[in-house]
Formats: sequence, structure tokens, C-alpha cells
Amino acid sequence: MKILHISAECYPIAKVGGLADVVGALPKYQNIQKTSSEVLMPFYDNTFTQKNTFTTLYQSNVNLGSQSFSFEIKKLENNELGFDIFFVSIPDLIFTNYVYSSDDTDRFLAFQIAALDWILTLKKKPSIIHCHDHHAGLIPFMMTQSMKYKKLRNIPTVFTIHNAQYQGWFSYEKLANIPTFDSANVGLLDWDNQINPLATAIKCAWRVTTVSPSYMEELKKEANGLESLLLHESAKCVGILNGIDTDVWNPETDHYIEKNYKITQVQSGKRVNKNYLCKRFNLDNKKPLFVFIGRLVGEKGAELLPEAFDLILRENNSSILLLGSGNTDVENELEILKEKYKGTYNTFIGYDEKLSHIMYAGADFLLMPSRVEPCGLNQMYALRYGTIPIVRSIGGLKDTVIDINENGFGILHQNVSISDMVYALKRGEELYQNMPKLKKIRNSIMNINHSWETSAKTYVNLYKSLNQ
Ligand code: ADP
Repeated sequence: MKILHISAECYPIAKVGGLADVVGALPKYQNIQKTSSEVLMPFYDNTFTQKNTFTTLYQSNVNLGSQSFSFEIKKLENNELGFDIFFVSIPDLIFTNYVYSSDDTDRFLAFQIAALDWILTLKKKPSIIHCHDHHAGLIPFMMTQSMKYKKLRNIPTVFTIHNAQYQGWFSYEKLANIPTFDSANVGLLDWDNQINPLATAIKCAWRVTTVSPSYMEELKKEANGLESLLLHESAKCVGILNGIDTDVWNPETDHYIEKNYKITQVQSGKRVNKNYLCKRFNLDNKKPLFVFIGRLVGEKGAELLPEAFDLILRENNSSILLLGSGNTDVENELEILKEKYKGTYNTFIGYDEKLSHIMYAGADFLLMPSRVEPCGLNQMYALRYGTIPIVRSIGGLKDTVIDINENGFGILHQNVSISDMVYALKRGEELYQNMPKLKKIRNSIMNINHSWETSAKTYVNLYKSLNQ
């Protein structure tokens, strides 16, 4: 079975968030299930594309209304990822040093059209086309509706919602950019008088998946306007929990961290990594170290952080380190706190893959006060590195973390509120005072298996059910 994943991100080529981690791991684990899983993504101008070599397989032009852009399909020459990866290169449109920006409508529409133009020419067509998020959301529509792609009509499509907040809306002014289709079916593109690629994918894909079972249920109540659509389409929707790439996220072999460790060495291994962080960021290594890693946006509960940190740090029992970027007001508030709590608090505003790994390894606790969390990978990485997650009970966090008061291994809070968050932090401080219990939990969480194997099998079974 040949599966083609189509996505805007894929680790290690281009990563903004969890989408990249999933698309960089799932195909590899599917190939262990004896499929032939491949990835198709845009060709960006970044460190990865500058350092690697590619073969050009195909050349043509893609039309966006009256504009025409030349494009190439390239293939990565080395085969170290565990799957073949292809790129749509559109030098005049998509060869940017960013993944997302304000010109995404044209960039990703051209990406999707070029992708289908190429697939049309393939002798051996994919058995399944698996599209990820709204950047690939018009593919199931074009495959079933656009005259040009009639030959692709019978290839089953799977669409995964990694995040329903972002839907890729655009106005009908750009309708002519979509390859000709029967205008009677224009309603398939529509949601609230706009073209909505996420809604379109939910309507047109053969199956829709989300990245955790709880998120699937939550979307029927809150999906940024698409609740009724998800309820209506629920028969073809299923929540499959993401896994983690245990080759990349492995404290025994992780080349980013200061000291590698296995379960039996978790105390000493974490100590070396914690000491590194405390020295580099001027933090007190005798206090419990709480970290936050992620986008500073409302979904992640980021606006709670400055006040919650202020309240907890004034009691002088903890050290806190934050890595992230996003909302500039939140960034500024977090930066201001640095002066006030020198020696116990610091931030790194920006994106740093290496630092994130050291933080998973060196922290005592990882904070995720998320308002919305489709799956959340950070908590699973934390568990693998023996770091205790303190999370809000929502989406994938609810599916992967059990509270210590219920014989579990993490700390859960119900509400997105300063008081709930501060209380959860205090529970963390209290747990830190009980070292024997903390050590026991560290050992047990490192053993939890969140590898992709089970979920990759579930996806393969889903594909098989569509391919009969
Ligand atoms: P998202 O909603 O952002 O996709 P996930 O939990 O699914 O959230 O995945 C987040 C991924 O991005 C994790 O691999 C996390 O370590 C990484 N990440 C987020 N922000 C940063 C940052 N500032 N620096 C390094 N890695 C980051």
C-alpha cells in the first residue's frame, strides 16, 4: 500500500509546531508496518534545503487564475528519514525562509494544485492520500470535483485535523484560482460565506481524524465555528492519539542534551542537565525547576503565565524557565519579570530545538495550562525524560496524564485560571519536597510507552478499510 502524506511541515525539514513532529514520524512508523509511506511538502529556503541535495523529478507550470508559476517536484537524495520525501518547489511563490505568513492562501493553493498535477502523471498512484491541516485541505475537494483531476477520484483521502483553530479562510474573489469544477457543488467550499479549506476537507475527505479521542469529542462542542459540521460528519470522524518518535526523543541517545541517561540513571542524568540550565540562565538549582515550552498564544494559556509566575516566584520556592515566542504583550510581560526575579526566573524568547531538548531533560516539571490542546506532544516528551507534567485537563492532555491523587503521575487542573495554575504549581513544589515519591514517579513515567507503533497501526488499519 502506497501512502502519500501531504503537509506544510515535516521534522526535521521545517517545523513550527507539533504538525512537523507528527509528519516526520508517522510515515516512518507506518513503513515498519510494511506500507510504503511518503511525504510531499513545500520546498522552503531554509537550513535543511541549503544543506541537502535533491533530484528534480518533474517540471511544469501551475496556474493561479491568470498568473502562471513554474514549479518542480524534487526528491531528497539521502534516505535517512525512514521514508521518501518529495517537495513542490515554486521559486516565485513558496521558496521563503518562513513556513506561514500573510500570503498563505496563494502559496498553499499553488502547492496543492502542483501536487495534484504531479500525482496525475505518476504511473503508480498512491493508494491513499493523507492530507494534514487546512494547507492541504482543498485536495480532497479538487480530487473529487475538479474536471482536471477526474482520474484521481477513486483514490481514498484521509484528512487529519491537527488544529481546528486555523481554517485557512479566504474570500470568493479567489474562487477562480481553484481548477474548474461543477459550479453546482460550490457549497462544498463554503462555510459562513467564505471559502473554508478546513471545512471543505471535513466535507470531502473519505475519513477525518483528529489527534486525540478527547479532542474529537470537544470539537463537536467547540471548533471555532465548525461544531455543527463535525457533529453532522461524525460517522466518518475518529480520534487517534499521536505518538512520539522515540528515536528522536530518547534521553539515552539524544545528541542535543548535556548528559544522556537511562531510567536507572534518571536522578544523576537530570541533575547534569538541570545544572547546565541553571548555570546558563542564572537559576537556583536547589529549587524545583518548572519549565514552559511553546507558542505564546491564547490556545496555550500563555496570557496566564506572567501573573501566575509572579505569584509563585514571590514566595521564593521555585525556579522557572520559559522558551517560546508569540504574542508580543505576553513576551514583554514575561521579559519584565526577569529584573524582579533574578536568580530564579528566566526566559528565552524565540525558537530553539536544542534548548527545548535540554529543558525536557533538565526540568523537574513541565507546564501546559492550555486552553485548547488537540493532542500536545510536550507532555509526552516530558514523560519520556522523567519530567512531571502539570497540565490542564483538556484534549490530548486529558488522554495522556493521570493525576497523582488518582494513582497517576502528573498534576492536572480543571480551569484556565491564575488560581488553578498557581495551585497546581504549589502541588508541584510540595511533591518536590517528597523526593522518594518524586523519584518513584520519575522511574514510572519513563516507562510509559507513547511510541507511534500503536497509532501507526491504527492508521494503517483505517487505510486498509478504505482500500477494499
Ligand atoms: P503545537 O500546538 O504548537 O503544535 P504541540 O505540543 O503539538 O503544540 O507541539 C509543539 C512542538 O513544538 C514540540 O516539539 C515543542 O517542543 C516544539 N516547540 C514549541 N515551541 C518551541 C520553541 N520556542 N523552541 C523549540 N521548540 C518548540
